[in-house]
Amino acid sequence: MNDDKNDDKDLICALVSKHIRINFGETVFKTVYRKKLYDNMNKLQPGKPDDKDFNKIAYNVSNDKRMKIKTGKFIGKKLDIHSFSTAQLEELSSIINLKLFPESLGPKILRGVAITTAYENSVGSRSCMTGECAEYTRLYEMNPDRIGLFVMTAGNYSARAVLWTLDNGRTLLDRVYCNNEVIRELMKQHAIKENWLYKHSFNVLDSDNNCEYPKSKLVVSGLEYTDGCIPYMDTLTHGTENNGKLDVGYFDGSLLDSQEGLLFCGNECYHCGEAFPEEEINMICDSLVCETCESELYFYCGNCCESYSLDDSHFIESEQSYVCDTCFEDYTFCDDCEEYYSNSNVSLITVDGVDKDVCDSCIDNFQECECGQYQEFLNEVDNGDKHVCDSCLSDYHSCDSCCEYFSTLNTINDDELCCDCGVEVMQNA
Ligand SMILES: [Zn+2]
Ligand SMILES: [Zn+2]
Ligand SMILES: [Zn+2]
Ligand SMILES: [Zn+2]
Ligand SMILES: [Zn+2]
Repeated sequence: MNDDKNDDKDLICALVSKHIRINFGETVFKTVYRKKLYDNMNKLQPGKPDDKDFNKIAYNVSNDKRMKIKTGKFIGKKLDIHSFSTAQLEELSSIINLKLFPESLGPKILRGVAITTAYENSVGSRSCMTGECAEYTRLYEMNPDRIGLFVMTAGNYSARAVLWTLDNGRTLLDRVYCNNEVIRELMKQHAIKENWLYKHSFNVLDSDNNCEYPKSKLVVSGLEYTDGCIPYMDTLTHGTENNGKLDVGYFDGSLLDSQEGLLFCGNECYHCGEAFPEEEINMICDSLVCETCESELYFYCGNCCESYSLDDSHFIESEQSYVCDTCFEDYTFCDDCEEYYSNSNVSLITVDGVDKDVCDSCIDNFQECECGQYQEFLNEVDNGDKHVCDSCLSDYHSCDSCCEYFSTLNTINDDELCCDCGVEVMQNA
């Protein structure tokens, strides 16, 4: 038995007894487990397999041979400890595995093209940016002095997190992607040791370890970038373009949430190009429009209750409101006062032989002849008994004396005279 194997045995023994104490208490450990554990350890002489098979433990069998078994099964079947819950057993197994293969832990900070390769290989678990989508993470590769990828691997277990160098020099460990919670914890411990800022959970930036860290300081500016190579951002979620470089941070700006590597996507305003959360952007006329652009470029048609481009607006002076193209068809231009009115308040009339649309108030400026024609002033006939238009006037006759028009005249001494003028001539005769 060489020293290595003894070290492994002591390590496993220490970890198992520690976890029994943590989970079931010192008394239980002493009275129930301690002797059994030490006896089994001596008998089995557990250690890592000679072929360095991760996640397994090698142990002695009776005929001087060694066999290997999965770590969890070793604890249950070989050490005869069955009190751990599945989760407790999984955690203990992970820790034993990681400690047995410390060389595979190797916290490493990848930079440049190595980051893209890590994403291609889904180091730290698959996500929307791994595999074929690694192409979209080249922003990381393009900025080796500002962006690294912090990785830990152990056998099939791995974790990754983007490591940012902020403008103020601090280092931020972004969201940890992993396929094993123990590795996540180790990543966090490493961040604490290095005095990095880190994310406490998936969503919030941890503040309890690093004091209050103002979001305004979470800025990485002046990044080289190519549109199409902008990854989905977990923490520095917003970006702005600045003199051909990209600034990312936790400020207002375009949301960097594209899963196709695009700088601007998702809820991007059709007009100003900025990205907005869903509740601050509306679909208008088949385009996404932010609230500011909406107030500047659109109007609300009170008739049909929809918003439209101001280009399609019509101001109705008589109602002091805008209506859309479609609703505008319900309005007619008054040829007299030259304003628009609702169709129901406009009449088509013929004035002096010409068709005219006139509104309800302008129609009072005209007089209607019995023939249906309108005229501004009709002609008085038959001593004011009737008023007729110019064309109907041809049906009347002009008195040779008073020049007024009448339906009938009397011929007296070769003159065509109205009644009154006729009486006057007779009396004077
Ligand atoms: Zn806008
Ligand atoms: Zn309308
Ligand atoms: Zn009018
Ligand atoms: Zn007439
Ligand atoms: Zn007369």
